[in-house]
Amino acid sequence: MIDVNAHVLLIYTGGTIGMIENLETGALEPFNFTHLRSNVPEMKRLNFHVDTFIFDPLIDSSEISPDKWREMVKVVKDHYSQYDGFVILHGTDTMSYTASALSFMFDNLTKPIILTGSQLPIGKLRTDGKENLITALEIAADKDVDGRPVVPEVCIYFQNLLLRGNRTTKINAENFNAFKSANFMELAEAGVNIVYNTSKILKPNYTKEVAFYESLDDSIAVLKIFPGITPEVLTAVLNIHDIKAVVLETYGSGNALSDDWFLAELQRAVDRDIVIVNVTQCLHGTVQMHRYETGQNLLKAGVISGYDLTTEAAIAKLMFLFGLNKLPNQVRELMQVSLRGEMDTDEA
Ligand code: ASP
Repeated sequence: MIDVNAHVLLIYTGGTIGMIENLETGALEPFNFTHLRSNVPEMKRLNFHVDTFIFDPLIDSSEISPDKWREMVKVVKDHYSQYDGFVILHGTDTMSYTASALSFMFDNLTKPIILTGSQLPIGKLRTDGKENLITALEIAADKDVDGRPVVPEVCIYFQNLLLRGNRTTKINAENFNAFKSANFMELAEAGVNIVYNTSKILKPNYTKEVAFYESLDDSIAVLKIFPGITPEVLTAVLNIHDIKAVVLETYGSGNALSDDWFLAELQRAVDRDIVIVNVTQCLHGTVQMHRYETGQNLLKAGVISGYDLTTEAAIAKLMFLFGLNKLPNQVRELMQVSLRGEMDTDEA
């Protein structure tokens, strides 16, 4: 139920939702918040309080970086006690990366952080931005019968679905249903009513404080294997100066080529204490390294399973764990445990 005394902070970082067309170049460019707000007069009719925090400069989300994630954490941290929930307006291109990173940067989160945006600018007649924005604000203000936030998680709300942020991937550059949580059910669906899957929502410990983490280590690489990958490509990536971890995107249930050069190079990297995490290129399903001989070979070389982690969440989790100065062995261990509901380690 909406708490009429609720205060929500709307953090505007940029993205298509607030963009307008540059008449000279035809390109969409970020525009100011007054433009955005004047296109959503419905916001005045919300029966709770909404304040705004605007990033300067506003950015296209393809320019997002760990520095921007730190800025977002800082804004939430500085305003945490004053607000009941937070909505972050963000471009869709990297929204899943941001949602994944933020999910790790708050521990024992006791308030909702809902990311949303749109595929069409808010000034367009057919925009999807209005519904996304209004419903995200309502979810951020929603309380249960005990007066606690219904969804104290980092989520993405987009086209009627509320998804756990670190389970999402952008799957569509055209349609309004831009995001998918392929391996975890939605936390809510907004129809005539907003129906929550309460049993799936993380429950914080309200007697404990939330912890904010601003340090991330970006000594990470992603390597997508493909038929025809050469030793030069693999060697180049695994020998990047100061690299600490590689997210290895493999086929199907975690399979890759079994050529000696491939396995030996991976083994050498593991011996140098580089953490190699196996995630699947498939949208649905999980890595099962025991299932095929090719997967077992990776396991023998010291590659660890990322189970059903998305690439976005794997990157964010590695940056977070190395940001905590964990040793490679501790990182390997923690990569196999769900910290924020980001993975299911059951291979079945
Ligand atoms: N390029 C835009 C961005 O991510 C796309 C969008 O918002 O949908 O900022």
